[in-house]
Amino acid sequence: MRNSLGLKERNLSQRALSPRKLKSYRRVSGPEAWHRAALAINASLNPEDALAAIVRQACALTASRRSAVYLLNGEADALQLMAGHRLPDGLLGSRLSVGQGVVGKAFRGRSVLVTNAADPLKQDQCLGHRLAAVPLVARRKRLGVLQVARGPKERRFNSSDIAELEWFAPLAAQAIANAQDFYHSVRADMILTTSHELRNPINLASGALELLEKYLEAPTALQRESLDLAKLGIERASALIGDLLDLECIERRVGMRLGRCDCAVLLNSIGLEFRLWAQDHGRALQMHVPDRPLRVWGDERLLQQVMSNLVDNALKYTPPGGCVTVDARAEAGQVILKVSDTGPGIPLDAQSYVFERFYRLSDQPDEVKGAGLGLTIVKSIVEQHGGRVWVTSQPGQGSTFTVSLPALDK
Ligand code: ADP
Repeated sequence: MRNSLGLKERNLSQRALSPRKLKSYRRVSGPEAWHRAALAINASLNPEDALAAIVRQACALTASRRSAVYLLNGEADALQLMAGHRLPDGLLGSRLSVGQGVVGKAFRGRSVLVTNAADPLKQDQCLGHRLAAVPLVARRKRLGVLQVARGPKERRFNSSDIAELEWFAPLAAQAIANAQDFYHSVRADMILTTSHELRNPINLASGALELLEKYLEAPTALQRESLDLAKLGIERASALIGDLLDLECIERRVGMRLGRCDCAVLLNSIGLEFRLWAQDHGRALQMHVPDRPLRVWGDERLLQQVMSNLVDNALKYTPPGGCVTVDARAEAGQVILKVSDTGPGIPLDAQSYVFERFYRLSDQPDEVKGAGLGLTIVKSIVEQHGGRVWVTSQPGQGSTFTVSLPALDK
């Protein structure tokens, strides 16, 4: 299973251990052990290998039965279990909310969090009764949490365990950050190069199709159908490539032009852009935009793309007869932009995934097209502007997407 960071979740040795074996967890500590641990976790720039080494070394340094690394999955706003040493089956990939349980609390904290007694925080107890968790922070960024665990009959975590974790966590976080950076830059370069290279053959095929269409004066039904299918395929491929290139450029901040933008003006032009389509397709589009300016610092073209994607989605997922409403206001130093619809809504368990790359709900009507990148682009642009975007939805009663951007005073 791979997560949004491209890391494959892994569990090293899921074998159940006999009680006799449990007793043999010995601490390896001292300069030699520290040196070995530091070398092991930095031996590879492959994120999976780095994580595997970290969970193994965490167990050895603290004489723990089990260990796990949870990483922040920003797209899902949750901590996801990405690697473990001797984990019970079925835990890898599971998610915990930030702020909840030992892991969620440790993520927000500064130092090691220990719970030695059987504790009501049951969601964490699947690793063991005694737990110690430490935030993984590198370059001032919170990446996740390292957790070690022991059973109820094993000894309590004490101050020397805490000292080991305090020493080890920053090193582990740095190793993860280095491996992730390397992975992201290789992946981004690959996407960029491949997308550029694919543009030429797609343009060639599209030109050839146009010629064919021109010279086939009276195509048969089969020829017509084949031409239409080929055109549809080419359109989809070039839209996908356009989205991928957009996303990579946005994430690298390539070509961003920052300046003062008035979201009220921007929304009025979005209203003009979509009103006719909405009318022709039996949807109502209501724009509630104040007369005064709603200023933010940003790239006007990109912010236009954000609102255009959200309104486009709301209209395309709302069946005829429905209504899409756009609201804008300034509140507590933020400009709040809302797009609500009376469409099918989004199930609760899917709401945290809709901003992930290529995620689409499974029961989509055939005629609704898309590659599952629109909301990823929206989120990326909003975050590049220091803002947030989220969805609230009641299945069957529509969805509301809200964008919050820091307002400019003047
Ligand atoms: P797509 O190109 O598929 O529209 P997006 O990234 O824009 O990709 O959206 C991801 C998925 O989220 C969509 O495929 C759809 O399942 C769901 N979705 C987005 N907006 C809405 C909405 N307003 N109402 C219902 N579902 C939505």
